[in-house]
Parts: sequence; structure tokens; C-alpha cells
Amino acid sequence: MPAKPATKNVIVELDGDEMTRVMWKMVKETLLAPFIDMKIEYYDLGLEHREKTGDKVTVDSANAILKHGVGVKCATITPNAERVKEYKLTQEWKSPNGTIRAILDGTVFRRPIMVRNITPTVRTWKKPIIVGRHAYGDVYRDVEYKVTVPAKAELVVTGADGTELSRQVVHQFKGGGVLLAMHNLDASIASFAKACFEYALDQKIDLWFGAKDTISKTYDVRFKDIFEQVFAKEYKAKFDAAGIQFSYTLIDDTVARVMRSEGNILWACKNYDGDVLSDMVASAFGSLAMMTSVLVSPQGCMEFEAAHGTVQRHYYKHLKGEPTSTNSMALIFAWTGGLRKRGELDGTPEVAAFADAVDKAALATVEKGVMTGDLARLAEPKAANVCGTGEFIAEIASTLRGIWK
Ligand code: NAP
Ligand code: MG
Repeated sequence: MPAKPATKNVIVELDGDEMTRVMWKMVKETLLAPFIDMKIEYYDLGLEHREKTGDKVTVDSANAILKHGVGVKCATITPNAERVKEYKLTQEWKSPNGTIRAILDGTVFRRPIMVRNITPTVRTWKKPIIVGRHAYGDVYRDVEYKVTVPAKAELVVTGADGTELSRQVVHQFKGGGVLLAMHNLDASIASFAKACFEYALDQKIDLWFGAKDTISKTYDVRFKDIFEQVFAKEYKAKFDAAGIQFSYTLIDDTVARVMRSEGNILWACKNYDGDVLSDMVASAFGSLAMMTSVLVSPQGCMEFEAAHGTVQRHYYKHLKGEPTSTNSMALIFAWTGGLRKRGELDGTPEVAAFADAVDKAALATVEKGVMTGDLARLAEPKAANVCGTGEFIAEIASTLRGIWK
């Protein structure tokens, strides 16, 4: 084994709930602690502790990520009525991811982990396609109305001083119908654009953005214009230096190009497009357990996590003492994503090299046919060894010992 590397600056660690909390601990103890010294600032976002702190811990953790630049997060429960009973909560605490995303003003990028023995449904896809979804406005914050009698619908805009700025007839209804109004904000679109440019630069991959500007000549054109302005002003030179490109096309063309591409692109999507298309891309790449997720702020602060939840069903089996076969790949890649970023920011290549080695060990383990049940259902050729939860992590550690020397 090489001399134990150490992180120079802090990684913010956000612990979580249920099966992912169990695996999180295993990953730290088996795969990280024996090999690397990490400077950690720990926040327990487990539901009990969020309750105890009145959710202050979530806000504190987000501010810590802004301060230190790098965070890694375990999956957390977003409480609903059942969870309120189960955990005897004083209230239905908000989604931690929502709280953190709002504080970081961040954009979420989902990135699949690819292995040779699981083939994407789309034959041409050889490399990851990363989807970035704008998470503000549009149809998610719309105002809707159901028309039931003959009526005139107008879009009226009134200035702060009461002056009418615009009045347009949307439709003259003769009978029943529906209508909606939606909005977005220049500042939010610009933050989204910056997060996309930052992440493309970080990953050194091309950025594609598509919208329906030919039909939506004000709304979608605004998105196109802001992306192009931010790019020209702040990123063109950096992209040239990195040898990567930004391209805007009509969303129809973007979809067609993505389907034919090899991958290795960052696809920036408007809110609704991202909601729908990220699920399509994810399922075409295989398993939810093989999807990682990075939250990127416009300043380039990053929080790494698995895209899946706390795997509640497996946790209840685990509590009953029954064997589980839960996949820790995305949690492991969350840690290595954080370590690699920390290494890059601190100028400690040995830390980034260790992160690469762990990724390599995890991929090699699955590629030699050693995997959890969710992957065994997809793998071709068939799995040689279907592992339990802890066994899988131990197998990766043993592969790691073989290559980290
Ligand atoms: P989930 O935890 O993503 O699990 C859904 C199903 O997907 C599992 O039952 C399992 O299928 C499969 N799966 C997901 N991850 C897996 C893994 N690592 N290995 C093997 N199989 C995996 O979603 P959920 O059960 O609907 O949600 C549970 C809790 O997670 C909820 O309280 C929710 O609020 C929270 N959640 C948190 C986040 C986050 O923190 N980012 C995201 C989503 C959900 P089988 O049961 O068929 O094996
Ligand atoms: Mg969706």
C-alpha cells in the first residue's frame, strides 16, 4: 500500500437514514478509513437528529458546503404522514435535498455509473449522458384555471406602481376548457446556466442545451439568450482552453442528437424536460442503484450523493435480521466524487488518485461478476457471485488492496 494519503481541507459529510445509513458506515469503515485520512466536518441528517435540532442541522450542513466547497451526502427520508407517526415527529420536515438546493442555489446533475457487463438499452450509448435539470418555475409553479362557461381569458401584467404594462387575450372561450400561466426568473436561469457551465468544465465534456425557441418566441428564447450571454461573457474562453463546446439547438434536434450520440455529454434541460428525460435516460442505463447525483452551485461548490433513496424495504429486512443485497455503488461514487474534487481543489493528486483507485476497484469487482442482486438481474454474462450488502463492500475492498499499491 502507498503511504496513506490525507485530505488537506474539509469534506462536509451529511449522514442519512435507513439502509443507506447502514451502508454509509460500512463504506467508511471498510473502504475509506483503512486507506486514507480524511478531514471531515460531520452533520447527522438522520431523521431523529433533524427532529432534535428543529432541522437546523440541514441548514448548517448546507452552509458548511458553501464554506468548504465539497460535500458528500447519504440518502435521507423526506417525511410524510406515515413517517411522522413512525418517528414521532413534531412536524413533516421539508425535504433536506430541497433545503440544501435552495441554500446552494444549485442544479442537480445525474450521472450513470457504467460497467461492461450491463449494456444500456440504447446501443450507441457507450459513455455516460449526464442530465442537468433546472429546478425552478415553469409548470411546477404555474397558476391554472378550468373554464366552464363562455369566457375571455387575458394575461395582464401590472407594474409595481399600478400601471398596466401588458394585456393580451389568451383565448376567447365559447365553452369549457383549461388554461395556465407560468413564469421563470432571469436570475434563476442564469444560475442554472452557470452551474451547467461549471460542471461541464469540471468534467471536461461538451454541454448541450435545447429549448422550443421556434414556438415559444419570448419564454424559451429567454432561456436561449441567457445561456448564450452567460457563455459569451464568462465561459467561452474557459471552454476553448479546455477543448470543449457549448451548443444550443432546438429541443427536438437535441433529443435526436442525444439518441444517436456515444454519450459523454452534459445535457442541460428545462424543468419539465429534465423531469421526464432524466428518468428515461436513467432507466436506459440500467439500475437506479447505479445513478449518482451531484448538486452544483453557480460558484462551483459541489455536493455528491446517490440518486436513490434510503431503500426502506431492504432496511426493514435488515432490521428483522434477514439477509439483504443492497447495492452501495452510488454511495461509493458519491464519496469518491467528493474526494476527487477535494484533491483537485487542494492540489493533492494522491487524494484524487485514491478516489480513482476506489472507482476502479468497484467497477472491476462488478465486471468480474461479483455484484448485488439488483445488478445480477441485468448482467450479461450472468453473475458469478451474488453478494450480500456487506460482502459486496468487502469484495471491493479486497479488489482495492490488489490495485492500490
Ligand atoms: P428508494 O430508496 O430509491 O428505493 C426504491 C426501490 O429501488 C427499492 O425498494 C429497491 O427495489 C430499489 N433500489 C434503490 N436503491 C437501491 C440500491 N442501492 N440497491 C438495490 N436496490 C435499490 O426509494 P423509496 O423506497 O421510494 O424511498 C425510501 C425513502 O427514501 C423515502 O423516505 C424517501 O423520502 C427517500 N428518498 C431520499 C432521496 C435522497 O435523499 N436523495 C431520494 C429519493 C427518496 P427493490 O425493493 O425492488 O429491491
Ligand atoms: Mg421525473
